Amino acid sequence: MTPVTLRRSLPLLGPLLALLLQGVLVLPARAASALAAWRISSQGELLLRTSAGARLGAFFEDGEAGRGPRVWIDFPGELSRPRTLPGSGPIREIRLGKPTPGNTRLVVEFDPGVELDPADLRLVGTASNRWKMEFKGLSTRGLRAIGEGDLNRPSVAWRPPTTFRPTTTPVSPEGLPTVPRGRYRVVIDPGHGGPDPGAVGIGGLRETDIVLDVSLQVARLLQARGVQVTMTRTSEVDVDLPPRVSLANRVGATAFVSIHANAISMSRPDVNGIETFYFSDPRSARLATAIQRQVLNVSPGSPNRGVKRGRFYVIRRTRMPSVLVETGFVTGNLDSRRLATPAHRQRLSYAIATGILNYLRGGS
Ligand code: ZN
Repeated sequence: MTPVTLRRSLPLLGPLLALLLQGVLVLPARAASALAAWRISSQGELLLRTSAGARLGAFFEDGEAGRGPRVWIDFPGELSRPRTLPGSGPIREIRLGKPTPGNTRLVVEFDPGVELDPADLRLVGTASNRWKMEFKGLSTRGLRAIGEGDLNRPSVAWRPPTTFRPTTTPVSPEGLPTVPRGRYRVVIDPGHGGPDPGAVGIGGLRETDIVLDVSLQVARLLQARGVQVTMTRTSEVDVDLPPRVSLANRVGATAFVSIHANAISMSRPDVNGIETFYFSDPRSARLATAIQRQVLNVSPGSPNRGVKRGRFYVIRRTRMPSVLVETGFVTGNLDSRRLATPAHRQRLSYAIATGILNYLRGGS
């Protein structure tokens, strides 16, 4: 086994991310793989996208006894689904595995008889999250491109925005839209709770903590405008979905708003954004649009993932206009840092309350 030369041409990224990838910080769960996407081109190049600043190891082993040479790359973070893909031309197969818990290995095994000189192999960092290795001297006859994931997503480097653009979302209770007092009842449903923390993201950020804080604030803001509020939970207890729905149906609510935070794999900190779901009622679509607009207002830079139809139980089985808002990704490097701050959770609360009040006033 020969270590392949690694050449880094660009500076590494933020210290926090670097620490995370080195496993120095205590993670809530085993960190997901730093390998985000890979491709072998028909010209015989291996291209990789990783978490920014990830430290890789690259190795070569000569073929022997009916077995071709192998090149492998080790990544921090554990692969979720080991797999083998058949190659083409001079490549016999590509294997993705976890040689030890908490690690990821990508192996390219060539056909017997293929000759590669390890002195010619270099894994070169071409951007903070991109890598390239040319298989010099490889005959590319019959080689078809193969890969998984999107190589061209942007780097996960992130800096906090220095300015917030002007917004129509109020920042004090006096700025909230007014509605006739005592006319409306709204059910606020903080997702998850108790033994079910919901999504857990960067730095152990828990969905349940975010959504309970935001929900309690939304309730107080609505009450300040004379809206009656029913909460499906007000503390860290686990409430099943059917009781949440039957409660909403029983109190004859004007609207039902379920508040959540989103998550995707820990290896996708580049995924951030706001989305709001409704089931089918056009009034629900209008409520979703009103909330989505306001939440986007207070989340500059976070992508608009849109107002979408969804089949979540709580919005499918409630009989009044109902929506489920995802206030950002606890696994996203942009959203998670914000969701972790009380100041942003307060802005979110004003945004959601304003959206609900605008809907009750007949607008969006
Ligand atoms: Zn959730």
